Amino acid sequence: MNTAEIDVSKLLEHSSDELEVFGEVVLEPIKLGDKTIEFPAPFSFSVRLSNVGEGIVVNGETSGSVRLHCGRCLELFTYETTVSFEELAVFASEDGEEREVEDAFKLADEKLDVAPIIYQNVMVEVPIRPLCREECAGLCAECGRNLNEEPHEHKQERIDERLAPLRDFFNKENK
Ligand SMILES: [Zn+2]
Ligand SMILES: [Zn+2]
Repeated sequence: MNTAEIDVSKLLEHSSDELEVFGEVVLEPIKLGDKTIEFPAPFSFSVRLSNVGEGIVVNGETSGSVRLHCGRCLELFTYETTVSFEELAVFASEDGEEREVEDAFKLADEKLDVAPIIYQNVMVEVPIRPLCREECAGLCAECGRNLNEEPHEHKQERIDERLAPLRDFFNKENK
């Protein structure tokens, strides 16, 4: 897992201080079932960190692209996304006693790693059944070929018409 650590020692000196940070983070590919979701380029982010005493509130936005397989035609395509988020990062307990704060990220050694925050928020936005485009035609139910690349229909009736004389011929022969 890659990290994007921000030094928050200055921010922690005064409560209600804020800090704005811009950066980029490389997201690791993730295997979901038999498919691998890849991130071809680093995600850019901007975050505003606020010292709220019990921890740091992380407000921000991240943008980047995700390589996904279309749920209809199965082709790989690039999905562009921009995700806004607000998360709380709390101090990892020093006395060994677990302070349970639900869904909170951990702060350690006056450093805040925004990579897991970005990763989690991006993954929530990735569609379960993505489409390469709204009007994706998908795969042909008859022959399995990609209907976006090779639009076609199987004209069953016309084939029957053409075969009709032959069928009549055989019918006559058999009588
Ligand atoms: Zn598609
Ligand atoms: Zn077909």
